Order: sequence, then C-alpha cells, then structure tokens
Amino acid sequence: MIDKVIKGKLRSTTGVFFGSGQSNEYKDSIFFRDSQNNIIIPGSSIAGVLRAYIARISPYITEDSCVQLVEGQKDEFCNCKVCQMFGSINTRPDQESMPSKVWVYHATPITRCKAFLRDGITIDRESESSFRESKAKFNFEVIPKNTIFDLHIELEKGLNKEQEILLCSALSEWEKGRCFLGGLHSRGLGNFVLEDLNIYELDISDSNKLLKVLNRNSVLIRKNEFLQEKLKEGLKIINEKHQIIQKGTYHSFFQFDFNINFDSGVIVNNFKNNVRYSYDFFPITENGEFIIPGSSLRGVLRSHAEKIAKTIVNENCENLEDFLRICPACNPGGVSEKIPLT
Ligand SMILES: [Zn+2]
Ligand SMILES: [Zn+2]
Repeated sequence: MIDKVIKGKLRSTTGVFFGSGQSNEYKDSIFFRDSQNNIIIPGSSIAGVLRAYIARISPYITEDSCVQLVEGQKDEFCNCKVCQMFGSINTRPDQESMPSKVWVYHATPITRCKAFLRDGITIDRESESSFRESKAKFNFEVIPKNTIFDLHIELEKGLNKEQEILLCSALSEWEKGRCFLGGLHSRGLGNFVLEDLNIYELDISDSNKLLKVLNRNSVLIRKNEFLQEKLKEGLKIINEKHQIIQKGTYHSFFQFDFNINFDSGVIVNNFKNNVRYSYDFFPITENGEFIIPGSSLRGVLRSHAEKIAKTIVNENCENLEDFLRICPACNPGGVSEKIPLT
C-alpha cells in the first residue's frame, strides 16, 4: 500500500548525458529513450543514485552499514536499513528477497526536449591540434541545461523513522543542487537541482476517504513540513552519536563556483556545424545559447597541470634522457600513453 507520494521537478543545471548503450551511423552514443523514442531518465537510474547516496550516509544515522560499502563483501546478502528500503541486491536461495519500498518512476521532460550532439576530442599535446585518428574522437547526445524533468516517487507503508530521515536528507541535498545523474560527470555533465518538491500523504483512514481514492479524486495531503522535521531529527542523531567516519561513507567535498570574464573573443569550435555551414570555425551552441563545454575547461586545466609538472621535473634533470625517463606527464591519446611529452 502506497503511503506517501513525492513529486518535484529536476532541472538540469548543466548538459546531461545518459547513455543508452546504443549508437547509429552518426552518433556514437545515443541518449536513453523509451519505446516510443521519447527522451527519458530511467527510474532505475534515479533510484540507483538515491540508493548509493543513502547507503553512504546511513552509517551516521542507523547502526548498520551496507555490505555494498565494504570492498570484498559486495556479493554477500545484506539486510541493512538501506537494502530494506530499496530491496535486496544479492539474495540467497534459502532467503526471501526483499522488495523495494521506494518506487521511482521514469522522469519525463515536461518541456520540449531536444538532444544535441557533442564531440569528445583529445588534443595532441605536441601539435596542439585534435587527433585525426577516429579513436580519439567520439560524439554523444547531450540534453541541454535548463531541461526540466518530472520526478515522481512513491513510498510503500512501513518505512521507519531512520529510513525517512535518510530519504529526506537525500532530497534535501538534491534541493541544494547536489544531484548528479547520468554519465561523464568529470566533463561537467549531469548536474540537477530539485525544485517544487512536494511530499503528499495518502489518507485512506476511513471508508469515505478510501472511496475518494478509488474514484481518483485527490486526497493527497501536502506534507512539506515533513522534510524539515526529518532533517532536524537526523541532525539530532548525528550530534548525539559523534560517530567516527568510516570507510566508504559520505565525505565532504569542495565545490568552486566562479565566473569567467574573457578580455578577448573566444570560440569553442563545433566540428559538425563547420561541415554543415562550410565555416572554418563555428561556435558551439545548445538551445540557442553559446556554451563552453566542461570538457574544454577540464582539458585546459589538465594541460596546464601537465606543464607545471614537467617544469618541476625539468629543474631536477641532468639531460634529455633523464627527463624522458622521469617525465610525469604522458601524451593522452598519443600512439602510446606511456610515451612522455617532450
Ligand atoms: Zn545493505
Ligand atoms: Zn597520463
């Protein structure tokens, strides 16, 4: 029996890549779609991200920690609070498997949603141009920033207080913009913020209310204070426990937010449109806006780090052979990754 319904909107704050594992003549990796060819984010993926986060904070709130966090024990049967919520992963023949109490539906875009093609290119460090070999160039479909998806989660009756706290802390993280779905996070893709979050309680405490549910009249009661209550309870538990941080649990991280001001013109080239419009350079746009892909920024950071590393090593080298032997930076995408930069 469904007890609570969670509804919200997931808005992408970066491009999003969700590989379907399929490709065609023009695209190396196609965005996930349903059987009618509509772009969707599969519910199982959202549930997986939710579960992974909850498993990592669970040791702070509950007494147990999931075997999924322990290297070498991942294949063992687990009966922790998280596996009780999301269903058991590894079932033994002599044990009944636990069904999930958290139902996550496919997230569908609520606005028109168009996928764009992005190129992944490795820049040759010697010539500072892109590698011609096909192995260094691949493209993938990306959903642009500010695409809004409908989030719909249903909770079965029977989650205990600790499990409700865990779920609410995950939702609260998502509300703060720390929701990552899909692939290629290191290229700056897949960041979402959860907006318009509403938690409803399904009230069928008497026969009249039950009749209304069966007649599909809404008897959902908004329960937004529920989230705040649970977060308070969670903080209280953490403060009381003063638990030592265990391996595999949720750690803090840094986030840098900054603006870049260019004092000259800038272009990030879109290879596909060069051919289409026969320009030498054509700036990359998505949804009518100019973008600088995260992969470009990441590439600049990486090559700068390589230069610094080489300079430091250079100080301690006697001759060229010495340098090549201990060079700390390779030429990624080159003939061999092991061949150092000169
Ligand atoms: Zn578990
Ligand atoms: Zn390397």
